[in-house]
Amino acid sequence: MNVPFVSFLPMERELDADLRTAFERVYKRSWYIAGAEDKAFEKAFAEFCGVKYCVGTGNGLDALMIALKALGIGPNDEVVIPSNTYIATALAITYVGATPVLVEPDIKTFNINPDKIEERITKNTKAIVPVHLYGQACDMDSVIELAQRYNLWIVEDCAQAHGSTYKGQKVGTFGDAAGFSFYPGKNLGALGDAGMIATDNKELAERARAYGNYGSDYKYHHIYKGNNSRLDEFQAAFLSAKLPHLERMNAVRRNIAQRYLDGIKNKEIILPYVPKEIIPVWHIFAIRCKRRAALEKFLNVRGIETNKHYPIPIHLQECYKEFGFKEGDFPIAEEISATELSIPIYYGMTDTEIQYVIDSINEFN
Ligand SMILES: *Cc1c(COP(=O)(O)O)cnc(C)c1O
Repeated sequence: MNVPFVSFLPMERELDADLRTAFERVYKRSWYIAGAEDKAFEKAFAEFCGVKYCVGTGNGLDALMIALKALGIGPNDEVVIPSNTYIATALAITYVGATPVLVEPDIKTFNINPDKIEERITKNTKAIVPVHLYGQACDMDSVIELAQRYNLWIVEDCAQAHGSTYKGQKVGTFGDAAGFSFYPGKNLGALGDAGMIATDNKELAERARAYGNYGSDYKYHHIYKGNNSRLDEFQAAFLSAKLPHLERMNAVRRNIAQRYLDGIKNKEIILPYVPKEIIPVWHIFAIRCKRRAALEKFLNVRGIETNKHYPIPIHLQECYKEFGFKEGDFPIAEEISATELSIPIYYGMTDTEIQYVIDSINEFN
């Protein structure tokens, strides 16, 4: 049996008519950038998250970068991020000219360990970017407490966690701003690139919108050296068609995750841990195994496609060699990148496929 790591087919088959209608609507209107669809989706997504303002962007990286820019973060500023995250979190910071300060995650939750943030705060620290990694919200009480004590901004990286909650509150509502990605593989995915900034701060939203529109507050009047990162109308329309199904599709992922948590019984496998105050949305189901390469091969030979998130930690990436990090600097991030394996989880996985993944992992020794 072949089990792909992810397939969009079940979702797209189900929403086929809605997606085609969305396409037709935009095509007939012949307005392609920052129009009625953009506005409608921003409003719907703001309601979904429970924030006052949403600003569409071209992708998730830009959403984070523009949010930082709109908060005035730039050269000589330091921004705290987890050492275990996708490269985009760090790139957003280096793009605005600031310095990412890496803080080790908790090996159980994979998310930033708030107990290790304080020792990394300096007089140059301006913000914390907690990443709700793999679809699981961070320990936000601790992050907020620190941010208040040291007067730091919080920009949440919600690219993997649309709809995840911490103590009943949705991610994207805890910080000064949040960045979302609608890359096709994310829990809410466009049919191309798209992103969103969420915030309760009106001035911040206005600055962000201007920044992503060539720094323009009104046509041909430029107040910032901005960039071009807007949500296109087709993507906004597709996202509006998909948003009403997000909660249900997240619940389906939770069911698959529960079957994995109940069914996988193998002493070699460490299953993901979910703190009780968090409802995850399982963007990724991350297991750990000391003999990861052997497990990976074992599953791949059985037709089960897997992935690693992420095989090279940020501090060992070539693009950041300027910081002079070396192996051993962030042992927990290194441990995760050496042992983590992501197994298939997506809307529309069949019972047979789920059971096959469970049985295969249980047979590994
Ligand atoms: C996907 C992702 C991003 C970037 O989003 P794009 O839309 O691909 O630019 C940022 N942070 C994290 C944690 C991500 O997973």
